[in-house]
Amino acid sequence: MVKVPDTATPTPSFDYAPAPESRAIVDIAPSYGLFVDGQFVDGQGRAFKTINPATEEVLAEIAEASAADVDLAVRAARRAHTRVWSRMAGRERAKYLYRIARIVQERGRELAVLESIDNGKPIRESRDVDVPALAAHFFYYAGWADKLDHAGLGPDPRSLGVAGQVIPWNFPLMMLAWKIAPALAAGNTVVLKPAETTPLTALLFAEICQQADLPAGVVNIVTGAGATGRALVAHPDVDKIAFTGSTDVGKQIARTVAGTSKTVTLELGGKAANIVFDDAPLDQAVEGVVNGIFFNQGHVCCAGSRLLVQESVAEEVLARLKRRMATLRVGDPLDKNTDVGAINSAEQLAKIRQLSDIGEAEGAGRWSPPCDLPATGFWFPPTVFTGVTQAHRIAREEVFGPVLSVLTFRTPAEAVEKANNTPYGLSAGVWTEKGSRILWMANQLRAGTVWANTFNKFDASAPFGGYKESGYGREGGREGLLAYLKGASA
Ligand code: NAP
Ligand code: MG
Repeated sequence: MVKVPDTATPTPSFDYAPAPESRAIVDIAPSYGLFVDGQFVDGQGRAFKTINPATEEVLAEIAEASAADVDLAVRAARRAHTRVWSRMAGRERAKYLYRIARIVQERGRELAVLESIDNGKPIRESRDVDVPALAAHFFYYAGWADKLDHAGLGPDPRSLGVAGQVIPWNFPLMMLAWKIAPALAAGNTVVLKPAETTPLTALLFAEICQQADLPAGVVNIVTGAGATGRALVAHPDVDKIAFTGSTDVGKQIARTVAGTSKTVTLELGGKAANIVFDDAPLDQAVEGVVNGIFFNQGHVCCAGSRLLVQESVAEEVLARLKRRMATLRVGDPLDKNTDVGAINSAEQLAKIRQLSDIGEAEGAGRWSPPCDLPATGFWFPPTVFTGVTQAHRIAREEVFGPVLSVLTFRTPAEAVEKANNTPYGLSAGVWTEKGSRILWMANQLRAGTVWANTFNKFDASAPFGGYKESGYGREGGREGLLAYLKGASA
């Protein structure tokens, strides 16, 4: 029987009812000190505030580590390395890493809520991506800790010593895991500086280290801004620097450590091409394009910020893309239905606005779906630019926000040429039905990671890193372990 619609019934609404995740699970103290030698201690420097970018609410006061504080942390790390951690059998170190991984899982909701509050990212992502990746990295590297001598890493792989690690604000927990887990598995101790705008989850992780009874000084967290990072990088008793952040700061760091015995890995910016051929399954490709640029508000070093679409399907892809973008829900990061959260800081919002205005002024067509943005906090709607040429600044510079530039191509050779026409080389995506084309493209693209018919997929066992101005060194997998060992070889 065919149902006749009852005209008296109002048209059903497909709006989602609010589904807020409770923040009752997190307990934010009014102020935080530094985590040095297994204890929370007062800093000798000033304090700064960290805010919730979705509301501009001040969350806590954070100690800004001075050079003297950094020195105390490095000394603690050195003692822990010499007396305890480097002497401990790998299988014993592994137990601590497994314990940390399990506590991360047990406290997963707390970590996810706190990450979303301090960073602005949707709870759906912190809960389903960031926190599981944090646990996965510790589980993965725990498995390596007792196998260093038996995995063809060389005759006598040994730890480097003290690692100074500096991370950005876009994936505070995930970046912490990428840095700390391999360092500890290889027998190093660490001093880590989280980003100024997102220190809270690193401090919660410090609490987890205490809960896991990790020996004092093995992990030290020094909060602060650029000056704290500089002091850590320049400290003479640090053996290895691991940095993730902007190319500008990466270059400064390379200059600072030049001529010293420190080893360095740099994970820097990107301007990835997401390349859609006319034989690709278009709806899937559009989904991948959306994930590639709007995941984490586009604050992703490997974001697919340049869509290269084959001319014959460009109009069709763009129409489907706009339709899909109109369904993205922008707003409260703690709402479980939110797809796009808050921009991390007023500073970053200003940068996104400025580059987008330049894109318009240079003649590209700008489009965003209608969306009501909250009155307070830092917000930017998902945005697409069409008619972009390779000379446009939005095609060359990293916007680091939810802004996609669309360019077209006719032949595979032209796609490769355009994709590689960037000073960066971190990632790329290829969408096509042909396996042979995927392999050919992957060989031609100068990017550390090439995703085929997918995008933004990460795994603890897969090495990640860049070419050219995207930096050097690899994190993740066996390669990520080698970066923390001496006497080892690939
Ligand atoms: P950033 O300014 O370079 O900051 C990164 C970290 O370095 C922060 O902790 C920062 O402290 C600190 N820092 C700033 N100046 C320093 C100095 N002179 N010496 C030592 N440390 C210093 O980068 P951002 O703008 O915060 O982060 C976004 C950038 O990171 C983007 O360009 C993105 O592409 C890149 N990124 C790359 C990857 C990758 O894996 N390749 C991953 C994520 C992000 P404060 O924040 O406290 O100032
Ligand atoms: Mg910064």
